[in-house]
Amino acid sequence: MNYSVEKLSSLIDAKLIGNNKANISFVLTDSRSLCFPEETVFFALKSERNDGHHFIPELYRRGVRNFVVQELPDKLSEFPQTNFLMVADSLTALQQLAECHRKEFHIPVIGITGSNGKTMVKEWLYQLLSQNMNVTRSPRSYNSQIGVPLSLWLLNEQSQLGVFEAGISKPKEMIRLQRIIQPTIGVMTSLGSAHQENFGSLEEKCKEKLLLFKNAEAIVYSMDDEIVSKCVCTSDYPALKLTWSMKDDTVAFYVRAIEKQNINTTIAYTWKNKVNGKFTLPFIDEASLKNAISCAVVALYLGLTPKELALRMERLEPVAMRLEVKEGQHGCTLINDSYNSDINSLDIALDFMNRRPDHKGRKRTLILSDILQSGKTESRLYEEVAELIEKRGVRKFIGIGTSLTHECDAFKNISEKFFFPTVADFVHSEVFRGLSNEVILLKGARSFGFDRLTELLVNKVHETVLEVNLKAVVANLNHYRSFMKPETKLVCMIKADGYGAGAVEIAKTLQEHRVDYLAVAVVDEGVALRKNGITSSIMIMNPEMSSFKTLFDYELEPEIYSFRLLDALVKAAQKEGVTGFPVHIKLDTGMHRLGFNPHTDINELITRLKQQSSVIPRSVFSHFVGSDSNDFDRFSAHQFELFDKGSKQLQAAFEHKILRHIDNSAGIEHFPERQLDMCRLGLGLYGINSRNNEILNNVSTLKTTILQMRNVPKGDTVGYSRKGIIVRDSVIAAIPIGYADGLNRRLGNRNCYCLVNGKKAPYVGNICMDVALIDVTDIDCKEGDSVEIFGDHLPVTVLSDVMETIPYEVLTNVSNRVKRVYYQD
Ligand SMILES: *Cc1c(COP(=O)(O)O)cnc(C)c1O
Repeated sequence: MNYSVEKLSSLIDAKLIGNNKANISFVLTDSRSLCFPEETVFFALKSERNDGHHFIPELYRRGVRNFVVQELPDKLSEFPQTNFLMVADSLTALQQLAECHRKEFHIPVIGITGSNGKTMVKEWLYQLLSQNMNVTRSPRSYNSQIGVPLSLWLLNEQSQLGVFEAGISKPKEMIRLQRIIQPTIGVMTSLGSAHQENFGSLEEKCKEKLLLFKNAEAIVYSMDDEIVSKCVCTSDYPALKLTWSMKDDTVAFYVRAIEKQNINTTIAYTWKNKVNGKFTLPFIDEASLKNAISCAVVALYLGLTPKELALRMERLEPVAMRLEVKEGQHGCTLINDSYNSDINSLDIALDFMNRRPDHKGRKRTLILSDILQSGKTESRLYEEVAELIEKRGVRKFIGIGTSLTHECDAFKNISEKFFFPTVADFVHSEVFRGLSNEVILLKGARSFGFDRLTELLVNKVHETVLEVNLKAVVANLNHYRSFMKPETKLVCMIKADGYGAGAVEIAKTLQEHRVDYLAVAVVDEGVALRKNGITSSIMIMNPEMSSFKTLFDYELEPEIYSFRLLDALVKAAQKEGVTGFPVHIKLDTGMHRLGFNPHTDINELITRLKQQSSVIPRSVFSHFVGSDSNDFDRFSAHQFELFDKGSKQLQAAFEHKILRHIDNSAGIEHFPERQLDMCRLGLGLYGINSRNNEILNNVSTLKTTILQMRNVPKGDTVGYSRKGIIVRDSVIAAIPIGYADGLNRRLGNRNCYCLVNGKKAPYVGNICMDVALIDVTDIDCKEGDSVEIFGDHLPVTVLSDVMETIPYEVLTNVSNRVKRVYYQD
């Protein structure tokens, strides 16, 4: 669905400044999520901590031309060809737009609220109903004042049912969400204590939540929940009351029996006093059962037969939890849960820790931050926490935060316990240094700096370092940009950990210098970037079939090279409720590695892309096999022609702009006329010109130090297999770097050298796993002196030539136990 900018402006009662034609399909509130700048309108929202207006220049530079603002930028002249839609309040405007959009649809819409279980009910309704109708639902837990309008915006021509959650934390919020969602069917999940601090009583909160159902035709809730049923009865809402109960057989859905087995539960019910049915679901916990019952009521009301219901209930899947497991230092395993800290999610995480098998029977440790916004008094809250963790078998407890420190007495029954006001206090303590052979659950609100704590616990150290010159990276970037037109976009390839230089820091530098895209090989590399605060658009060149969910969660845009991959991705996107996810289409024009065949596949590709709305082509590209050598110029021309034709055909089938790109580093320099919309810069960024093997601005220098020196008399040998024969009385130095660090064995036996105080020191004998021996007989040096393996004074190409390989291989082979040190001179 799209709106002209004039239409959109009138819907939100804005004053339109600028009269540039634009059709808007995408609504953006978080600049990090930008994908389709040309068709996007950005709402500059103001919150306590953030002001979206600050991101306007950056978004303008990335191609956005439509902004909803509360105030105009100082220098309007810096934003030519731009529409500004002036409103009094951007958030209200966003909500108003969603409200208007919603009115276009005359379909059933389910609104879900309650304290717990909203996301689970939403996801399960999707799982139960999506085979019968096209369901549009809120992504993840988008249930806030911003999340709800963004969710409703997803309704489109194909939608046959909407399922949206609404969450509130304060009075007066629900009525705004009600106006946007306008649910025809309301579902009330359980009522609990979350956000209670802003409400006088549970009843008051319940009434506020019920406002969502003001104009609904039916409301689903549990008759057994006294507060909820009382509040519904005293309301004068006209809705049909679809109640369920385990005690009262006059309700719409009477639960006759619940039978728990090992991993399943069977529920027998009577629907509307007539139909007897039963279903089995693969869960046994109370919360899942109640949520499944709510879902069953909705499904039956919408016309699912008891038989269909039973078939689908049996296959319900759990709704994912965000917990990560990492290997830590000193034999520890870390379980990291950055999900909002509340007592319910703590319980889930503890449960997860307990269920993970641990063959070594290690101690279970919990590091917990203060729990914010529980609505309970602190003493009551931490008594409950203490009771819970004792019950869950935590042997060692580390509490971080002033409230926990204050309430330490609550933990009297835990044998080993420590309290620190801040993460920093903990990190500098003996307790931190003493962590070893434990399974550690880290559960902390982000504001306590638990990210940093995790980083320290998984840290690696080693003596040999790879020094990375970030200023040289920028100089190389600018060198290649000088071949490109100002409007040509750039992808920087930082796969293989930034060609060995360390993707995260390189990415931070590139982001600062406003490159349009970063590209990595695998999903884990992309996740690492996101976790380190990289917000640029990221492409994944080799998405694994098993990690699509991670792609969506971290907004990582995959390369798509085959129908099999496309189908699997679309399926996963549908399952997760993802729509309009950007992908990059690869065409095979001669590499014959990965990609669609431009001769035979394009029509089918267009058909399949058009059949669905989960993914959307953002770019189309191909790769030269030999842009680094003139010998292949004719083949390159042939590749370009094929690509040009295939990519134009794809573009012609779509209304939105699809970026076309083919030039890599050597291509940018050699075929600037083929730069199209975007180029992909790889090796050049790291200072190596693959066309002539020369170094532009050297980025990486691999360094170590002399560990020990000794005199070895003529006739002796050094190293394994007596390969290092000493032909004159010599001084031999040992350096702590071996093939396990990436120093190739072929460099040994005097085939290559390193530099000691500027002089060449040949490798003698076989290079060992962790140590190499070098001849320093004629060099003025001592133990502790620095040694350069390659870098500023010894080009990496010297090593790659000896190894009969390309510099790419030497750079990417530096193992990750070698610490990277970044500097800017
Ligand atoms: C690695 C890679 C590049 C970068 O190539 P360089 O020769 O390092 O510039 C470009 N495109 C694709 C598809 C790649 O995989």
